[in-house]
Amino acid sequence: MTITLSLSNDRPVPFIDLVPQFNAMSAEIMSVVEKVFTEQKFILGDEVANLETEIAQYCDARHAIGCNSGTDALIIALQALGIGEGDEVITTPFSFFATASSICRAGATPVFVDIEPDSFNIDPRAIEEAITPRTRAIMPVHLFGQCCDMESIWRLAQKHDLHIVEDACQAIGSEYQGRRAGVLGSVGCFSFFPTKNLGGAGDGGMMTTDDPEVAQRLKRLRVHGDIGQYEHLEVGMNSRLDSLQAAVLRVKLRQLESWTIARQENARRYGEMFRNEGVLDTICLPKTGPHRRHVYNQYCVRVRHGHRDQLMQELKAKKIGCAVYYPKPLHLQTCFKGLGCRPGQFPEAEAASRDILALPSYPELPLADQERVVSVVSEVCRELRGNRQQRRAA
Ligand SMILES: *Cc1c(COP(=O)(O)O)cnc(C)c1O
Repeated sequence: MTITLSLSNDRPVPFIDLVPQFNAMSAEIMSVVEKVFTEQKFILGDEVANLETEIAQYCDARHAIGCNSGTDALIIALQALGIGEGDEVITTPFSFFATASSICRAGATPVFVDIEPDSFNIDPRAIEEAITPRTRAIMPVHLFGQCCDMESIWRLAQKHDLHIVEDACQAIGSEYQGRRAGVLGSVGCFSFFPTKNLGGAGDGGMMTTDDPEVAQRLKRLRVHGDIGQYEHLEVGMNSRLDSLQAAVLRVKLRQLESWTIARQENARRYGEMFRNEGVLDTICLPKTGPHRRHVYNQYCVRVRHGHRDQLMQELKAKKIGCAVYYPKPLHLQTCFKGLGCRPGQFPEAEAASRDILALPSYPELPLADQERVVSVVSEVCRELRGNRQQRRAA
């Protein structure tokens, strides 16, 4: 039996709270941090090499190479595959900015195609029409922690001889047909930004691949194209992973599976509770496609009837954390004007930007907080439904 204190009824619910996760492991984290300080080896080193081995194992990849961020992972991955000036990379307009900006930073041109309404992921049926003689790669994003329709993407990549660079920044531990994100293309790219499922104490990233030659190139591109003894084979970046980050991430990696299960449990419970509240005419729950393991970096519902902004305002007023990923699709960003896209070009991505709403779902989310989110969301949904019915009657 759950006892709800009346006190808790107007308590704010944060969208995400990283403090409880740290509190639960602070002694262990502080001890590895102290070890790094004691040794004063801050760049790369054993901690990074060990994390690379452990991430490779976790993803079942042959190689994993640490770098400075998920953004850098994407840029370096493209460069390592020889993609740059004059090349086109097909990707989704419904993602974090870095997906497309990394393509530009590598010197290539992003080519957007629309998404599937149910998964919010790139629509493979739209990819083929966008392939030109200049297309060199597809960059699928496993958005919110759910893998793309890889079977269809593999078929296209094979048929047109294209690379696949996975933007798996939100999807560590997610699976497609029993294989983990990161081994579903030529290179997999991960981010350890603090709010990702495996988050560091700052920026960090990782690239995975099964190809030993690509691995070698990724490794030298993260450090000025250096092959040792100040011998530079090509112009690379300074994008090394810090020992401090690796040390912290190694401690946290041991908990990743239990956090993933907690996220999945939150999602399952949201589904059950919203169904019981009878509000599924106003909000659509996230769907998990076949042969997928969804790791819920975000739990995003779709708010129907154009009610998203009203619902969000009500939640903000009642101090219930929520967020919009993403309010503006990438093809409509000012910096991409030169690509010549126009409003209405990718209707599903634009509709998702208008309808989507992320609810709190971090692994330590207290049950009482989740219950409060559901009760406030449901209350507002019923009000909105009432307004709709009144309008229709009038
Ligand atoms: C977080 C994220 C990135 C960038 O990662 P950083 O580590 O912040 O550079 C790229 N793509 C997606 C989809 C992301 O969520």
